[in-house]
Amino acid sequence: MKTTSRIFLIVLCFGVSALAADQSIALKAAHMFDGKSNTLVQNAVVIVQGDKIVDAGSNLPIPNGAQVIDLGNATLSPGFMDAHTHLTLDFSGDYNLLRLKEVDLNVSEQAIIATAHARATVEAGFTTVRDLGSHFVGSREFVDVALRNSINKGVVVGPRMLVATKGIGATGGHFDPTSGFRDFLFGREPDYTDGIADGPDEIRKAVRFEVKNGADVIKAAVSGGVLSLADEVDTPQLTPAEMAALVDESHRLRKKVAVHCHGDQAAHEAIEAGVDSIEHGSFMKPETLTMMKRKGTFLTPTLMATEWIMNKIDNYPQALQAKAKAAAAARSEMFRNALKLGVKISFGTDAAVFPHGQNAKEFKLMVDLGMTPVDALRSATANDAELLGIGQKVGTLEKGKLADVIAMPGDPTSDITATERILFVMKEGKIIRRGAPTVQGISESTTPDIAAPVD
Ligand SMILES: [Zn+2]
Repeated sequence: MKTTSRIFLIVLCFGVSALAADQSIALKAAHMFDGKSNTLVQNAVVIVQGDKIVDAGSNLPIPNGAQVIDLGNATLSPGFMDAHTHLTLDFSGDYNLLRLKEVDLNVSEQAIIATAHARATVEAGFTTVRDLGSHFVGSREFVDVALRNSINKGVVVGPRMLVATKGIGATGGHFDPTSGFRDFLFGREPDYTDGIADGPDEIRKAVRFEVKNGADVIKAAVSGGVLSLADEVDTPQLTPAEMAALVDESHRLRKKVAVHCHGDQAAHEAIEAGVDSIEHGSFMKPETLTMMKRKGTFLTPTLMATEWIMNKIDNYPQALQAKAKAAAAARSEMFRNALKLGVKISFGTDAAVFPHGQNAKEFKLMVDLGMTPVDALRSATANDAELLGIGQKVGTLEKGKLADVIAMPGDPTSDITATERILFVMKEGKIIRRGAPTVQGISESTTPDIAAPVD
């Protein structure tokens, strides 16, 4: 009897969850950007069942028994993607204070703070991110892997994450976590377990080590950067032989390669080596962009990062100010040239340089530099899905795709800043947000009032 009732209970539970999974949701809105078309679809309906889209189009009939969510004068869109975030980090406040906090706070505390970054990001409409580097000086923890896994298990609310673990780079280069600190302050020189590798063999070892520990994508710094103390912003930091090893080993393991690169020479060499995307690319010349176009290499411009730094330039040491100014002066022309030449553009912001959750401000920066609103929306949906290698599952609103659906007020093709006012977020068929966000622009550096919006 006891066993029978237990079986009955199991049947009942399965019955209920099957029923819940069968219940359709019909999302209605005045417009829809489907990720494919050049114009918005009017009188849009997206039918969701379980975690998938079963139909999307104009004036579709509503299935019997479906829950109807009418979003009114809004635009439905595939969930946005950001191909360049650092959800476990925050560099958005006073640089020196953050540098101190980096060694002050234990890694567990930084990991807990990262869960708020994840929530702020998904509530802003970004249902997928490619997280390009997570390292904590003096620690070997893989916080990005832990965050990704916790989100996948439903323990933490956040976007789908493709993570890079430690960025790979040269001794003393942009990714060397001990650069600028006193020699041997952390007891040892960083090695491949920190992503620091010199020579093709060590680079291969670092790639293998990262994949072993959960990397979905490989990130490397091939030129100097803005927020690093011991390098010049545009100097090459990997040799062509090291880049060839990086790309070969990553691609053998079926991982894409994203490279941090401001300098033109390093970009040229990286594109030749076959990297999948150039991140930042500030100083790239038209010949280099032409080569990208020819090889199908993506450009992730991260305009928001430079914008944020330039607006808060006093927060940074003198040496970094000069680097930021040089990169900012070059990047607008580079971006316009990339548009003109038809380089594939992926949407990526470098969130962490600015407070998490403000990713959508990148759209206006792109449009202000001459990109059409539809192309900007496409960069954050279908283009990013292609770059991330997940175009079969997400990136467009069509039958069979995962139900990552967001809504913004009005029509983003007439006012692109509508992307900054997301009012509905669904990820894999689950409603994450309807109405006001619970967190906004979360940033450790702007605490103590952690829930307050920052700008
Ligand atoms: Zn970055």
